[in-house]
Amino acid sequence: MAQEDEYLGLMTRESSLIKGERISRYVQIHRSPDDVLKRTLANRELQLRHGTCHAARCSGTHGINALFATTYDIDQKYGTDYHDRFIRWIKNVQSKDQAVDLASCDVKGDRSKGPSQQSDPDMYVHIVEKRSDGIVIRGAKAYQSCAIVADWHLVVPYVSAQKGEENYALACAIPSNSKGIIHIFEWPSALAGRLQDGADVDLGLPDYGIHGSTLLIFDNVFVPYDNVFLAGERDFSFQLVMQLGKLQRAAASMCKSGAIELMAGAAASICRCNGLDWKKIPHIKDKITKLINLAVRCRGCSLGACAMSESHPSGSFFSDDLLTNAAKLTEVEAISEATTILIDIAGGLIGTLPSERDLKSPATRKYIEKYLKGGAGVSVEDRMRMFRLCEYLSGGSSNLRAASVHTAGSPAVQNLIITALADVDKLEGYAEMLSGIQH
Ligand SMILES: Cc1cc2nc3c(=O)[nH]c(=O)nc-3n(C[C@H](O)[C@H](O)[C@H](O)COP(=O)(O)OP(=O)(O)OC[C@H]3O[C@@H](n4cnc5c(N)ncnc54)[C@H](O)[C@@H]3O)c2cc1C
Repeated sequence: MAQEDEYLGLMTRESSLIKGERISRYVQIHRSPDDVLKRTLANRELQLRHGTCHAARCSGTHGINALFATTYDIDQKYGTDYHDRFIRWIKNVQSKDQAVDLASCDVKGDRSKGPSQQSDPDMYVHIVEKRSDGIVIRGAKAYQSCAIVADWHLVVPYVSAQKGEENYALACAIPSNSKGIIHIFEWPSALAGRLQDGADVDLGLPDYGIHGSTLLIFDNVFVPYDNVFLAGERDFSFQLVMQLGKLQRAAASMCKSGAIELMAGAAASICRCNGLDWKKIPHIKDKITKLINLAVRCRGCSLGACAMSESHPSGSFFSDDLLTNAAKLTEVEAISEATTILIDIAGGLIGTLPSERDLKSPATRKYIEKYLKGGAGVSVEDRMRMFRLCEYLSGGSSNLRAASVHTAGSPAVQNLIITALADVDKLEGYAEMLSGIQH
């Protein structure tokens, strides 16, 4: 898309760090609310074309911008040189158009305990050794979407480091081929379909069939100081977590708006495969309209949060905190409702479709061809293909729903931030003024 005239401005911009260099939006430093908007809108376009996560690039932008700002602030306070290091690193990434994923979520062990209280100190990624030329880190990051195809893993803290947890206040960039990096691939049971010889109908486009997250283990990985951007300044870990969370949540809401639009398209198509014209059946027309409404609501919330982006003294921009967190919660509810609508419109085959092997087997083919017939002019094979896509989009054979709920933190986190930011005392004052109550 970056090479198509129509999308050039959406997918690329001139680097603000390297004069004359046209770079991917995914590794840009946001220099205006428009940059945040365009970068976030790119998520919708990619979701519509792939129907899945593209975190090997997407989440990187959030870490890149949060680190650009936080390294600036650390240097202001401590006179360190993290910001210059970071700029050297990101210029290299931009010039080579590399993919950066964000390694944020630690495995966390006992959720009731912080990093230093765990019986095993490796439940959160941390520094185990400081050498003259760099640091050695150990631990594991959970469910790292698409990390396996990224050029760099941008490691950041998942929680704010407390006193005594300085070694957990860590941010660094690690080339994906570094010694000591191990990926253990996700295996949701739906992936078993991929083991079938010659799978095609059951597989759909390889693009949509797989999410591809890994348990990403750092087994004593050495990181030279050039690629270390936070190493012990624990008072900045909270800021870092909050800044990247904002951008991630705005992107998540946009991404899910694309997923719901795909559901609307799939719902219309499965109606045709079933012999119905969705435009002529009032309740189905209403439901497809509802899908579009939900998608646009997610997109609108995300765009609003981006349009209201605020500047940071470093010159970068971040989406509005309150709007962003509300946008994320909006997409959680929207995905839940949308997947129910899709299941409703598709019918029971969405959860009970026979396999491609049954379609191809000489013993069963004639029965599948006879009894899985639907609308006139639609082949059974095409009907099965569309059911597989519906199954995938409804979360029946994908982790779309899990991603929707937990991406960029579980909903409790967003609710906490909303409660903290909403000035309810002020609102109470307005209400009392209107009611005539006087103190
Ligand atoms: C499909 C998918 C893709 C992902 N991709 C990435 C990625 O690319 N990069 C990345 O860094 N992360 C990624 N994540 C991780 C995501 O950020 C986490 O799933 C999320 O932060 C929640 O963590 P958890 O899954 O370990 O759930 P848990 O932390 O176990 O939470 C489960 C429930 O317990 C509650 N809970 C947990 N601890 C406490 C506590 N101390 N007090 C009160 N309540 C608590 C939570 O609110 C939640 O309701 C991905 C997740 C999914 C599902």
